[in-house]
Amino acid sequence: MRKMSSGDHTKPAVNSALLRLLPKVDDCLLALQQEKALAEISLKSLTRLTRLYIEQIRQEILHGVKIPPKTMERESFIATMIDFILDEQKIRFKRVINCTGVIIHTNLGRSILPAQTMDALYDAGARYSNLEFDLETGERGSRYSLVEDLLCELTGAEAGLVVNNNAAAVLIVLETLAKGREVVVSRGQLVEIGGSFRIPDIMKRSGAELVEVGATNRTHLRDYENAVTENTGLLLKVHCSNYRIIGFTKEVSNQELVSLGRQHNIPVVEDLGSGCLVDLSRFGLMKEPTVQEVVGSGVDVVTFSGDKLLGGPQAGIIVGRKKIIDTIKKNPLNRALRIDKFTLSGLESILRLYRDERKALAVIPTLAMIAAPVEVVHKRAGRLVRRLRRDIKEQCRFSIIESTSRVGGGAMPEQNIASRSVVLEPARLSVSELERSLRKQDIAVIGRIENDRLLLDVRTVQDDELTLIHKSLLQIFS
Ligand SMILES: *Cc1c(COP(=O)(O)O)cnc(C)c1O
Repeated sequence: MRKMSSGDHTKPAVNSALLRLLPKVDDCLLALQQEKALAEISLKSLTRLTRLYIEQIRQEILHGVKIPPKTMERESFIATMIDFILDEQKIRFKRVINCTGVIIHTNLGRSILPAQTMDALYDAGARYSNLEFDLETGERGSRYSLVEDLLCELTGAEAGLVVNNNAAAVLIVLETLAKGREVVVSRGQLVEIGGSFRIPDIMKRSGAELVEVGATNRTHLRDYENAVTENTGLLLKVHCSNYRIIGFTKEVSNQELVSLGRQHNIPVVEDLGSGCLVDLSRFGLMKEPTVQEVVGSGVDVVTFSGDKLLGGPQAGIIVGRKKIIDTIKKNPLNRALRIDKFTLSGLESILRLYRDERKALAVIPTLAMIAAPVEVVHKRAGRLVRRLRRDIKEQCRFSIIESTSRVGGGAMPEQNIASRSVVLEPARLSVSELERSLRKQDIAVIGRIENDRLLLDVRTVQDDELTLIHKSLLQIFS
């Protein structure tokens, strides 16, 4: 050990002693360059990371973080630095196994795509394509034409286009139809969804003026009627995705709203949010109108997300009357909000699956997870528990409990789907340590802690992921 400084009265002496133990960048580099595991990393990166690491430790010392002097010894210091550098080299965008039971989990990437759609995505990325090239005429084509026919066929709409996401869809619809004009919305529908998307804020950005009508729980047709002026640009209906007003409530039906719109020659727009092409009530969920039904009700424009209940890639889908859709297509904003080729190829692949509803339900993971009978989920839990009990004995107890999954993504907020969770009760680790270890795996396993136990809901786990969960737990408990 070096002698402690005696002249410095402003900082604790131990700090300056530790600071003086910090090695020089060049000395570290000499050692790091001998290290096989770092051979692929350029000297420039290595130098940057070395500086970064030393600076990080310096800051810790300055902030009085307890650092055992032993870790400052050369060998130990270099070893930790190597771990830091290797960790930094790992790709940040990581695969996660979703054991939360929330099917459309926005933080975990919302909908996952079927394998056949991934093949389409690969070709879209790795090869040239007819993205904006008409193979019939050999001339420039439109990217929207690749999916427009399908959208019309599936929803019954006259025309359609796709933008970056549904927030963008709402923005461009409002900007096109109601910039500088009034938009009538029921007070009960001024929603905020996750990621601070608020209908009133979007409306401001679009240059439209919000006219709220009705009370939070009840809005009548006459409320809309009274609000209509010659400056009304459109009547807007917003799906209350993530909340529900219950009790003494009243909403105006689409039919009523559409006939009011017709009377005054004002378009009616509905932001469906999740928007689904199949009726999910047969799986015990509440009846929600499908996109086709909303289009059929006479609403002029409908917007919905690509990656919520549709089960596709992130996108904002706009379908409706040809005249209006054509105007939206010409809006310069459309260029700024346009979707990329990956989305288009993925979306086309997903939409094609909907031509056969049974196929869509079986193949599109979001739908398949909603539709899976609880017996199937129970069997999956059973398989996992048997394997875990076989290989991990004293360190952890495993059991199965009844739990509830959710659709998520702001859809059907109050509806539970019967599910099963594997319960983990570790003997020597704490539950939060176990949760963290699983989360820190190369393929992160995300469960939830409830009553001091770790729950892995297997409704959102794919069958081929059981092996990975098993492997991770073996590693943690070995
Ligand atoms: C989710 C949602 C949106 C936003 O859709 P994104 O695809 O996430 O941009 C807009 N409106 C409603 C009602 C929603 O539920």
